[in-house]
Amino acid sequence: MKIDKFDIVMIGGGVIGCAIAYYLLHSDNRLKVALIEMDPTYVRASSTLSEGNIRVQFNLRENIQMSIYGLQMLKEFSDQMAVSETIPDVNFRQQGNLFIVDAASRAEAKQGYMLQRTLGCEVEWLSPKQVQNHYPFYNLQDCVGGTFGRQDGTMSPEAILTGYRRKAVSLGAQFVHGRVEKLLVHNNRIAGVSLYGGREITTDIVVNSAGAWAAQISRTAGINLPISPTKRQVTVIETNLHPENLLPPIFFPSGLYCIHEGNGTFTCARSLPDDPVSYDDFRWDRKRFENLLWGELVEVIPEFNDLKITGGWAGLYAVNTFDDNAILGEWPQLHGFFLANGFSGHGFQQCHAVGRYISELILARQISLDLSIFSPKRILEDKPVFENETKII
Ligand SMILES: Cc1cc2nc3c(=O)[nH]c(=O)nc-3n(C[C@H](O)[C@H](O)[C@H](O)COP(=O)(O)OP(=O)(O)OC[C@H]3O[C@@H](n4cnc5c(N)ncnc54)[C@H](O)[C@@H]3O)c2cc1C
Repeated sequence: MKIDKFDIVMIGGGVIGCAIAYYLLHSDNRLKVALIEMDPTYVRASSTLSEGNIRVQFNLRENIQMSIYGLQMLKEFSDQMAVSETIPDVNFRQQGNLFIVDAASRAEAKQGYMLQRTLGCEVEWLSPKQVQNHYPFYNLQDCVGGTFGRQDGTMSPEAILTGYRRKAVSLGAQFVHGRVEKLLVHNNRIAGVSLYGGREITTDIVVNSAGAWAAQISRTAGINLPISPTKRQVTVIETNLHPENLLPPIFFPSGLYCIHEGNGTFTCARSLPDDPVSYDDFRWDRKRFENLLWGELVEVIPEFNDLKITGGWAGLYAVNTFDDNAILGEWPQLHGFFLANGFSGHGFQQCHAVGRYISELILARQISLDLSIFSPKRILEDKPVFENETKII
């Protein structure tokens, strides 16, 4: 049997695993870091199936601060991730996100808005008339206002993933194509991982960056993480709307959203309570859009009565069923086992801050942004940290 030894092993080479590997090696390029990925084509990874949106519009201080850092990092991303002549182009379209506020969501939206402003974010509170100036096609029914985050926007998730991955490898990370079968534990300490096929890797530090598969891998060491792989579907529509400029992504209080991709094309999605939980269901269902979302969409944007469904895709949300927020840090009952999991719908934008934070924890460096509010300890102590009551995740 082949046995290798590494200082730090990442299980999962999506944006989270690759960002952590980059920050580790950026701090200390003598480290021996392995990124173990079961599918180097990333067909099912949430990172490549993501919409690629970032927003400062959260209610929790730390979630806002993670996005502030993400935005700062994006300004330097191409330079920082350049490897020889290869310079990533993340195609960041900073068209701002527009959140619609109704009577029920007003108090929470106001609280989030005030906090975002206090933290220096460029967010405006809009009257219904101003909402319509930003989005002329929106039917103002039930709208009492809106918030517009000027710095928010969408980008290419593949470019971010490839940027971190290529840079991490150029700094010395070893990319291992294989599937981790189980965690190896000795006296409450992590001892390594074993892969399907028999290969073993010994290490003192393992990071669970396995996305929607995080609970599966933790279970092999008797750890039950409250993370469920929940199907999330996006539908692409072609409409008769051809606005001159790119419209901002628009988010409705129900959780429904539309992202204008240019010309008449939009992507639309909404999580529903009975979304399937499964590791293998990646089938996009056209009927779900027709029967469950289209009616609601026409109510808010009447022009969408005439549209052509041109396709769609399905991916997995790693839904944290405990409190919908990230779980970051060492598992208190297993030394050397670090979690970067449970991001629900916002892990893509948080990869920068999470990569830096987890690397600082592992290397015992000074912490740049304290994210201990998301420590796994809160699960054992039954102290959830909710974003807000209506929980847009
Ligand atoms: C449709 C959709 C839209 C989204 N839109 C946004 C958005 O706009 N903004 C945002 O911030 N977030 C968004 N998200 C969420 C975001 O994509 C995720 O939170 C983020 O990509 C998580 O990254 P990750 O690296 O943890 O997971 P992944 O990208 O899934 O990476 C995990 C990797 O681990 C590998 N793996 C798993 N188990 C093993 C094992 N045993 N051995 C080896 N490898 C293993 C998998 O193959 C996978 O490549 C969206 C998600 C979906 C599904």
